[in-house]
Order: sequence, then C-alpha cells, then structure tokens
Amino acid sequence: MAFEGLADRLQNTIKKITGKGKVSEADVKEMTREVRLALLEADVNFKVVKDLIGRIKERAIGQEVMESLTPGQQVIKVVKEELSDLMGGEQSKIAVSDRPPTVIMMVGLQGAGKTTTTGKLANYLRKKQNRSPLLVACDIYRPAAIKQLETLGAQLDMPVFSMGTDVKPAEIVQEALKEAKANHNDYVLIDTAGRLHIDEELMGELQEVREVAKPEEIFLVVDAMTGQDAVNVAESFNEQLDVTGVVLTKLDGDTRGGAALSIKAVTGKPIKFAGMGEKLDALEPFHPERMASRILGMGDVLTLIEKAQSNIDEKQAKELEEKMRNMSFTFDDFLEQMSQVKKMGPLEDLMSMIPGAGKIKGLKNAQIDERQLSHIEAIIQSMTKQERIDPNIINASRRKRIAVGSGTSVSQVNRLIKQFNDMKKMMKQMTNMTKGKKGKGFKL
Ligand code: GDP
Repeated sequence: MAFEGLADRLQNTIKKITGKGKVSEADVKEMTREVRLALLEADVNFKVVKDLIGRIKERAIGQEVMESLTPGQQVIKVVKEELSDLMGGEQSKIAVSDRPPTVIMMVGLQGAGKTTTTGKLANYLRKKQNRSPLLVACDIYRPAAIKQLETLGAQLDMPVFSMGTDVKPAEIVQEALKEAKANHNDYVLIDTAGRLHIDEELMGELQEVREVAKPEEIFLVVDAMTGQDAVNVAESFNEQLDVTGVVLTKLDGDTRGGAALSIKAVTGKPIKFAGMGEKLDALEPFHPERMASRILGMGDVLTLIEKAQSNIDEKQAKELEEKMRNMSFTFDDFLEQMSQVKKMGPLEDLMSMIPGAGKIKGLKNAQIDERQLSHIEAIIQSMTKQERIDPNIINASRRKRIAVGSGTSVSQVNRLIKQFNDMKKMMKQMTNMTKGKKGKGFKL
C-alpha cells in the first residue's frame, strides 16, 4: 500500500502523545523531530517539510494545545489539519464550462499514465456525472498511443476522434471541437503526446494545442512512484503551461508518498484525482483530508462507504438481508456476496480505510490472501446446484469429488463447509437477537 512506511512511523510517533493529559514543549519538540524524519524518509520535499514542521510546532506549542482539555489529541488534530492543508485542504472539483463542451487537456511524460487516465476520467464523467465525453487522440508520434486510446474508447463504448499521424495536433483539436459540437458531447478530453523527458519542442506543441483548445482544465498526469522527480516534472510543466490540476497515478503501488505530499506546496496546483490501479474504474477524486486521515491511521470511512455504495447493488443487498433473516442463505448467495466485496478493490486497500485497523494486533501484517478467495470460489463452483442450496447432503464422497473438481483438498472443502455452517448459525443468533428486542430472550 502507498504511504505504508510513512503511516507506520507517524502512527508510532503520535501514539506516544495521544493519551497525554499534559503536553510539554519538550514533548512537542520530540514529536515534531520524529515527524520531520518520517516525512524526509518518505521523500517529501525538504523545504516543504521545514515549513510544515514550523507550522505544527507553532500551533502545538501555542495556546491552542496547551490550554485545551485533551492536549494529546489536540496535537494530533493539528498534525492532521496541517497534513491535509499541505495537500490542498478542500477537495477540488472539475471545472464546467457554461458553453459546452468543457475541454480538458491531458499532459504529462510518457509512461506516467496519461492515456489510461484519459479513459478513466471519461468513464468517471459518464458514471458519476452523467456526461458524454469525446476522446481526442493527439499523440501523432506514436501510432500505438492512438490505437491505445481507440481501444479504451471501444471498451467504454465512447467515441474517439483521431486523424492519424500526419495532421498537426492543433488542427486535430480544431476538428475535434467541431465534431463534439455536432454530436453534443459535453466534455472533450484531449490526450496529448508525451516524451521521456521534458523538451522545448513538446512544450511548444502543447502551447499550440492550448491556444486552439482553450481548455477549462489542463490536467498534468504524474507518476507517484517517481517521488521527487514527479514534483520536478510538475514544476516544469506548470511553468510552461500553467496547469490547473494534477492527477497522481499509481498510488496503488508501493510509493513512499513524497509526491502526494509535496506537489501542491511546490506548484500551488491541487491534486484533483488519484489513479489507484490499471482498471478503468480505478480513479478516485483526491480528498486531502481523507488522505491525511488514512496516513495517520484514522481510517477513511467516507471513501469506504462511497465505494460500497457504488459497487453494491442495493436491491441485491436487501434480498440478501431477507435471506439471512429467513435462513435461506445458500452457497450461491455467499459467492455473490464475495464478488460484490471484491468489486470494491483489493482487500488490503479496504483495510487501510477502517479506522484503527492498523493497530489491531496481527491484522496489520496479516497477508490477506486473495488466492484463498479464489479457492473458495472454485470450491463453490464445483458443487452441484442442490449442494449449494443444501450443504447437509455433502457427504464424504461428494467432498472428495468437489476437492478434485476445484483443485483443492478435502480438508479445504471441509473447512469451507464448516465456516459456512458457522456463519449460518451466527445469522440465526443475530436474527433471534433482533427478535429478542420484541420480547423473546436471546440465549447463546
Ligand atoms: P502514457 O504513456 O502516459 O499514456 O501512459 P499509459 O496510459 O500508457 O500508462 C503506462 C502504464 O501505467 C500502463 O501499463 C498503465 O496500465 C499503467 N497505469 C496507469 N495508471 C495507473 C495506476 O493508477 N495504477 C497502476 N498500477 N498502473 C497504472
């Protein structure tokens, strides 16, 4: 998970101060020293760290903390607010033009994730805001890039405008805008060319595109894994093009977090979105406050709820609840439930959104084995329809057959059936418990 090292260190540091009824100046100094080291180790820009620590110290040693009833917690609140402000404070939204189409120009170095992000953003605009974007392929140097965008467009069932590799990008944009107007596309997303390094020619071309496109937004796509390099790239692009926002990709990877924490402070431009994976729905609006909360181990319940809401079908959830209530929950339902949870993303990421999950002994380092989940799926899929509905009929020979069919062992099959039965027992108890409120007693 991203930020892991930083989160660990910061959480250890603040743990020492949390419960303190009295916080001395020496305590604050000790804490800020450790926070400083943790941030530097996470590759946060040196100057950014210096300023941040200055602000935390000033506030934590000041009246705000010293005279409060819960000084320890007050210090942590200060740290969280400052981290959040560092990343931009409020979440910033995408601009909307009052004369559609709204034009968004995507820029960035090759390999940063520009084309993928263009697809993800189009998907986001349609799914979350009911928009109909037109994608425009302007990387005339790499035919593969045009093809890549066309493939994404086909996957999303969205139009892609391209004119091959012989027409200048500014001209392509001019034609694309006409097309968008004619087809009533309300957003135009322009995927521009990237290079391995920043060069003048590229910047000149991007400026020409900007002249013609008059974009409401210029999103710079940077790779979080490249740390301080990402910040330097952002600085140069911003100087030349005056970008309006940053999309930080590959935050699902093992990044130390330095880029996320430095970009806004160094460039003055907010991070608008975070790329959290290769799939087309792996793009999240960037919420500085929630991110600060996650880094400090306070969880991010809001994002978790939003993920659940957008991935779990409410009608199905209601039906499931009903089945639990009347005890008709089967292995098929179990499978369905698993696939809904899986849609929410890697389990490890979900865990980091639960407040305090990192502190639960054993849980933090427990490898959540996604392979085990696929074994469970395979076992259930090897059962007959009748077996899934009524596991009681699964005798020894059936267990053997299921194990062979799913490529697992009989003991794995046994374990799953036992877990399923235990789960049903628990559901029964819970239903009794709620019934109990109305008069019946609850006995374990
Ligand atoms: P471009 O050259 O900037 O257009 O980059 P691409 O869009 O072709 O992406 C380069 C690689 O990064 C591809 O393999 C993408 O699948 C991958 N990628 C892009 N965004 C993300 C992300 O948020 N997470 C991960 N893990 N991979 C990403």
